[in-house]
Amino acid sequence: MTHILIVEDEEKLARVLELELGYEDYQTSIALDGQQAFQLLQSENFDLILLDIMLPGMSGMELLRRYRKQNQATPIILLTARDEVHDKVSGLDLGANDYLTKPFQTEELLARIRAQLRQTVPANNSVEQLSHQGLSVNLSSRDIYREDTAIELTPREYDLLVFLLKNKNQVFNRDQLLDQVWGFEYAGDTNVVDVYIRYLRNKIDKPFSTETIQTVRGVGYTIKDGIS
Ligand code: CA
Repeated sequence: MTHILIVEDEEKLARVLELELGYEDYQTSIALDGQQAFQLLQSENFDLILLDIMLPGMSGMELLRRYRKQNQATPIILLTARDEVHDKVSGLDLGANDYLTKPFQTEELLARIRAQLRQTVPANNSVEQLSHQGLSVNLSSRDIYREDTAIELTPREYDLLVFLLKNKNQVFNRDQLLDQVWGFEYAGDTNVVDVYIRYLRNKIDKPFSTETIQTVRGVGYTIKDGIS
């Protein structure tokens, strides 16, 4: 099901959009400010974003700028007021795909949404980007971000992280991780897994408040949903 994020601080308008998009069988989530939207974008994958420019706190433009650093693929349609022509232009420069001037007709919005969705291959969306609690990995560019901080990993650290993210909620012991990430030909000590988990944690977790990789005592390692 196509999942659309509505970022709009006018709650009434947000609810109307939710209702109208619901009639068209789109699944929707609402964020009433930029910060809330940014957080939602860290933990969930959306197929399209409707983004109001004038938002309290983090503005729509700031959100757009930060989000496009992590994700270039998800289409974004700006919702602008009539007197925000300048913002509209810079919004397109920042990577928005389209814009609509308020007030707009629902039919026009739906047509714009369909046009954007036609241009993206739905299967790609979920595969190209892995996200987990503020951490995002772009599988085509290999860019990694936690919040909006870029993280540099070595190829082995990257492979280990991607393997755990792709197999969320499963626990792997050292032998399994060696087989999957290092390959069967690796003849060294399984301690290398612990060493690399520590390297990874230093880079992706240490500067932040929540832990991405969990140790399951006596078993191995996992990345679990819903634990922070
Ligand atoms: Ca607004």
